[in-house]
Amino acid sequence: MGRQPFSSRLDRFRQLLARDGLDAFIIAVPENRYYLSGYKAEDMALVESSGYLLVAADRQLLLTDFRYQEEAAAEAPDFELLIYTEGLDQVLPDVFSSLGTERLGFEKDFLTYKRYQDVESALLSARASAKVVPSEDLTQELRIIKDDEEIELIRRSLRLTEDVLHSIWGDLRVGLKEQDVAWRIEREIREGGAESVSFPPIVASGPNASLPHAVPGNRVIAEGDGVILDLGSRLGQYCSDMTRTWIAGKPGNRLADIYRIVREAQLAAQEAIRGGEESVAVDGVARGVIEKAGYGDLFGHGLGHGVGLAVHEKPGLRKRQPTVLQPNMVVTVEPGIYIPGYGGVRLENMVRVTENGCEVLNRLDCFYDL
Ligand code: ZN
Ligand code: ZN
Repeated sequence: MGRQPFSSRLDRFRQLLARDGLDAFIIAVPENRYYLSGYKAEDMALVESSGYLLVAADRQLLLTDFRYQEEAAAEAPDFELLIYTEGLDQVLPDVFSSLGTERLGFEKDFLTYKRYQDVESALLSARASAKVVPSEDLTQELRIIKDDEEIELIRRSLRLTEDVLHSIWGDLRVGLKEQDVAWRIEREIREGGAESVSFPPIVASGPNASLPHAVPGNRVIAEGDGVILDLGSRLGQYCSDMTRTWIAGKPGNRLADIYRIVREAQLAAQEAIRGGEESVAVDGVARGVIEKAGYGDLFGHGLGHGVGLAVHEKPGLRKRQPTVLQPNMVVTVEPGIYIPGYGGVRLENMVRVTENGCEVLNRLDCFYDL
């Protein structure tokens, strides 16, 4: 990726700062750091950050420690690099003094309390009248619409995920252990060139499939099982996420029933998605199909979520937090029915919202006509 997208993103980010009356913003979310600067380092843990961006009206800095110095300089050449040895609070007071920061925004959903205290005391020591302002995630507001290059990267990531599913689909059979299938998914995703899986794969067979986020265990796939396979890659920094339900042999009536309903809900929702439509309404279309069939209580999660640098990002397609869908948002469509003690079905596609509808990004079917 050239430098151009980063500089135009910074321009747009600064417009949001001006809109919100902020003169600087400290960015700690790893995906946001990458989106604005190109700096790829990940955090080892929430409390072990690999750096922060500080974006002000006419300067942008990347603050990190010695371990990341070389990488930061190479990946984020448009940012002034500031290396700390004792932690962020060591360098921030001088930075705030030289910037003359009055109102500093930060990602209120992410920054730890300890970090917040460090930032606030640094700012107040530079200028007693200054204010730290808890903010919405302004970078994610930009990330919600994908540019052409991002969409191409998402397509590539999904293609890899689909190739892996395709390679495994034909080998699935009774007698395989869930965790062995999950490990094969993970291995093939890495061998296919991904940086990582975008989340640990889910392989949930038989009754385990009633847990939407089941952890693959040593259960062995049995005749008649529905097996939920939910997998994704992170390739070129971008995530993919898809789910299919594989059926071992001939499904029982109930499994065939819920499979048909879930697929019908998915197709109806895909039909409803278009630029200008409300996320809550789209969720309601799928939910309506499942409710009408009598399974409303057993579809306990939202219909879908945005996918991009993070595997779960805005916009959510669910009952609350309405978002008006816009062209080039990328979202999943993943209705499910989960019957405790019996099993479940989930089917998940990724789609790109267009002006008049949506483009299903998945090319591989792996659906049953039951
Ligand atoms: Zn998924
Ligand atoms: Zn998903």
